[in-house]
Amino acid sequence: MYCHICFKSMQEETTWKDLLTPKLFEYICTECEDQFERNSSPTCQKCMKRSEASICHDCKLWQQILTTDPLEQNISIYTYNDFMKDAIARFKYRGDYEIQMVWRKIILETFKKYFIHDKLTIMPIPLSEERHQERGFNQAEALATSITYEPDTKTLIRIDSGKQSKKSRYERMHSANPFQTTQPPPKHILLIDDIFTTGTTIRQCAQTLKQAGAQSIKSLTLIRS
Ligand SMILES: [Zn+2]
Ligand SMILES: [Zn+2]
Repeated sequence: MYCHICFKSMQEETTWKDLLTPKLFEYICTECEDQFERNSSPTCQKCMKRSEASICHDCKLWQQILTTDPLEQNISIYTYNDFMKDAIARFKYRGDYEIQMVWRKIILETFKKYFIHDKLTIMPIPLSEERHQERGFNQAEALATSITYEPDTKTLIRIDSGKQSKKSRYERMHSANPFQTTQPPPKHILLIDDIFTTGTTIRQCAQTLKQAGAQSIKSLTLIRS
């Protein structure tokens, strides 16, 4: 086995204890693991943004823009530090699909900790068809398969292809909703994405799903930037 971040062989770390209880899901060495930073308090209770206030400024703003916030709660695992930025760039923009192996265990553990009793349908944030072809895979779907091998990838589709990352913060919070439903959605949904930034994308999905009849929408994201 080798570390999927730095490619160092991890063979030498195997001990007698490991032989008795094999570490099946260790895809990252401890040095690399230590460089990912867990998202820790104080954070907004709703979206996990770093915040002294229990509800952050962004969430209050969304409440104003949308009257009722369609997103009930977001849980994020890591911060967007430089080490994570490099890993995500490899994953999303340089096609390193295998790197997601290092996050599968923690995503499943986080799901179990916060959401396992909620009977939620797992739904990755869709990419537009154009972006999907360009990238070769949907990173959100790859992460969602950490929880279930059959996430719901049919109900929600994305139509436009405008790059969120090229828009200003204001443009992103006010841009037209590119998501549509193709069939009646399940009642309770857990959206999965790699990164929660302004929350625009996830709230647009949540709003579309709610308008189509879903009752509650939560999200689990790998990173809170
Ligand atoms: Zn490593
Ligand atoms: Zn918030």
